[in-house]
Amino acid sequence: VTLLAIESSCDETSASVISDGQILSNIVATQVVHEKHGGVVPELASRAHQQNIILVVQEALQKAQIDKSELSAIGFTRGPGLLGSLLVGTSFSKAMALALDIPLIEVNHMQAHVLAHFIDEPKPAFPFLCLTVSGGHTQIVKVKSHLGMEVIGETTDDAVGEAFDKAAKMLGLGYPGGPMVDKLAKTGNPLAFPFPISDMPDLKFSFSGVKTALLYFIQKQTPEFIQENLADICASYQYTLIRTLLLKLKKASKLHGIKEISVAGGVSANSGLRLALAEMAKKERWNIYIPDFQYCTDNAGMIAIAAHYKFLAGEFTSQSVSPMPRFAI
Ligand code: ATP
Ligand code: MG
Ligand code: FE
Repeated sequence: VTLLAIESSCDETSASVISDGQILSNIVATQVVHEKHGGVVPELASRAHQQNIILVVQEALQKAQIDKSELSAIGFTRGPGLLGSLLVGTSFSKAMALALDIPLIEVNHMQAHVLAHFIDEPKPAFPFLCLTVSGGHTQIVKVKSHLGMEVIGETTDDAVGEAFDKAAKMLGLGYPGGPMVDKLAKTGNPLAFPFPISDMPDLKFSFSGVKTALLYFIQKQTPEFIQENLADICASYQYTLIRTLLLKLKKASKLHGIKEISVAGGVSANSGLRLALAEMAKKERWNIYIPDFQYCTDNAGMIAIAAHYKFLAGEFTSQSVSPMPRFAI
């Protein structure tokens, strides 16, 4: 069984071909138009998707050496995401499926971030917990089967990726700022400037407080001081975000008695988070799983693996489907 999958929820246009659960290609076009605006501009994103989508799909088929007549179905991201962006991928998928007379498979983007763990070895065993940390989400998901998932913890305000990006913007580091903060933090002292760790009940996260604390901190200092202490500021801020994430993850592990722990989403690329996680895993006797980097940030490979499991389960979508900007797991 060979499937084509399309991702267009935010600012990457991506297509992937999967055959019997093996990814044959994963082409990602990242939109650079947003850089100068310091964040994703929805209208520009949908226009860029329209410009990219045909080329990206052609390249994915070519690299996989698959002709479109060999496809059994088309998987696509139905949501969550930006409506204009989702519309491009959804409409394209519907048209192509109609033309080829093959079925459609809708995929939930957040479920796909979790299923990215099933692309390569080693794969986590059920049940496992997945900390999904990205530009728009911060969730702890309890995964009971490929398609059986439950969000057990979530942010009440900003996502952790957003907390990275907004800090980078305040410090004049460009967009997306996560990788820059990560790089600077490597040479800084994480204990130089203490920022508050949010104390939310249960498994809830909050990142707006630490972001505001950073803003006040910056306002109180001179620009020279900020420049001289950039590495220490990034290290301290990042340390606070990581502490917050791991605190809740540990709580979730204890509460649910699960030691199979995975991380997904763009922020899982963070080197500080990876180090802290490895340390905690040793102490808590966790088995940890992090997908290959290309499957952590937005990509169609994860949509393809999700579509693969839905195909096996016989879960297809009608031609009358429309995108869902808000779409719970
Ligand atoms: P969502 O999946 O919630 O819709 P998204 O698709 O924008 O959001 P991803 O593409 O999965 O999210 O991840 C992008 C985020 O990851 C950005 O916020 C970016 O700053 C962050 N990020 C990427 N690399 C790093 C890093 N090394 N350290 C910290 N953050 C990082
Ligand atoms: Mg993105
Ligand atoms: Fe994403």
